[in-house]
Amino acid sequence: MTCPEKFWYMWIYEVKFAHFTTFLCAASIQIMECRKEENAENCNCTYPGCSRKGVCCECLHYHWSMKQLPACLFPPDVEKTYDRSIERFIEVYRERR
Ligand code: SF4
Repeated sequence: MTCPEKFWYMWIYEVKFAHFTTFLCAASIQIMECRKEENAENCNCTYPGCSRKGVCCECLHYHWSMKQLPACLFPPDVEKTYDRSIERFIEVYRERR
């Protein structure tokens, strides 16, 4: 036979744990939410058909893996040359400071 008190504590523990798990899931969903459409509206990249447009974390990761920088760090006239190298970035901002 189960002790009612023990049962009660177990029940409270399970309910609290379930709420905590739900809280963690909700929190991680909020963290994972991407503002892709909003970001894409503010993105200056003119490269056509890129699947990363508006997904800034992927964009940055993609370019940084090649030691490049994303389009948004370049002025429009330089951005449209698609030269996203660090050297070009330094050159541009050395000239335009
Ligand atoms: S900067 Fe590169 S990765 Fe980012 S949207 Fe433009 S082409 Fe795509």
